[in-house]
Amino acid sequence: MDRLRRHIKRRPNVDWHAGQIADPVSRLRFLRERATVTDTSIPRQRSLARYLVPPVLLAVGLVFLLLHSPSRATVNAIVVHPAWHAFPEHHDRVPEVWLVESSGGLETYSNGLRIDDRFQVSNRPRSYLVFPAGGGAGVAGREPVGIVFHTTESPSAPFEAEQNRTLRRIGESLLEYVKRQRAYNFVIDRFGRVYRVVPEGDVANHAGYSVWADDQWLYINLNQSFLGISFEADTEPGQEQSRISEGQARSAAMLTEMLRSRYKIRAVNCVTHGQVSVNPSNMQAGYHTDWASGFPFHSLGLADNYARPLPALWAFGFETDAAFYRNGGIRLAASAKMAEDLLAHDARLAGVSPQAYRKALQKQYREHLSEVRHAGSEDAE
Ligand SMILES: [Zn+2]
Repeated sequence: MDRLRRHIKRRPNVDWHAGQIADPVSRLRFLRERATVTDTSIPRQRSLARYLVPPVLLAVGLVFLLLHSPSRATVNAIVVHPAWHAFPEHHDRVPEVWLVESSGGLETYSNGLRIDDRFQVSNRPRSYLVFPAGGGAGVAGREPVGIVFHTTESPSAPFEAEQNRTLRRIGESLLEYVKRQRAYNFVIDRFGRVYRVVPEGDVANHAGYSVWADDQWLYINLNQSFLGISFEADTEPGQEQSRISEGQARSAAMLTEMLRSRYKIRAVNCVTHGQVSVNPSNMQAGYHTDWASGFPFHSLGLADNYARPLPALWAFGFETDAAFYRNGGIRLAASAKMAEDLLAHDARLAGVSPQAYRKALQKQYREHLSEVRHAGSEDAE
């Protein structure tokens, strides 16, 4: 079969132990751990050196190795979940941003960010459970660990100087609405002005049923663990281009930088509602589709999270239908395709069909969801 299987063949104990684990998700985790340990315990250079004598060949070989050698991650790619390697850290260097001044309901930050607090309203305190990617019970937290980006889908007027009065009136009634609903932590209006509505220490009702995963944690119901930032903008199903103004993009970059600096939020956990929204009643991904495609990650100094396999599918077993592809757009569709390939790959390693593996993931999601509800941090849609 593949390298893992051949590897395991030489280790009958591992195979036997794996055979005792009925749940395919747990079995795959066990195989991954064992296979990784075995792979990394063999120094690669030593085994290659055997084939690269005499010394001249060795020198040529070393140069070649330096230029072309796959990293350890690539070497292990067959036995370790590829998505667990796909979290480059180069987008994670964020300069320190500090509060310079706060007066008259207006905050000014060292990176140029200004936050208007006039529409601020409190809500229940932030408190959540996250689950170790390697399995195990939920771990409690209180600090925001990610950001979900939204669009408000509110009425709009043409972005023109003649429309100034109308644009201002629409923006203010939107803020009153968001305040009543405690719908987001932050709103960025059409002119790029940043409003704090629900303070970061409190939960905003922005993400409903939602899931995300990084290389360490599984996140369920992101209202509790992620901040919600919404752009005053609307989207169409399948839309591929961002429609926000330059001013909105600049403000969003500064706001994101400040929040990432203050709460040590990783770029991988800055995502869009379309990427995380799910419907547990029919196990379909993509319930809400704002920013399903077209979010300008790079303008905000973030990694392009559309380029990752969609966690809703490969980590939680959610499914996609025709509406998902119609409304989600090309980027989300590509992300879903990568996730389906990953799931098929994992199922093969676990020795079960993709259908059986998906069922096991769904079962695990429901168990986590009930743990979240039991902990009292459930959030209604
Ligand atoms: Zn949304």
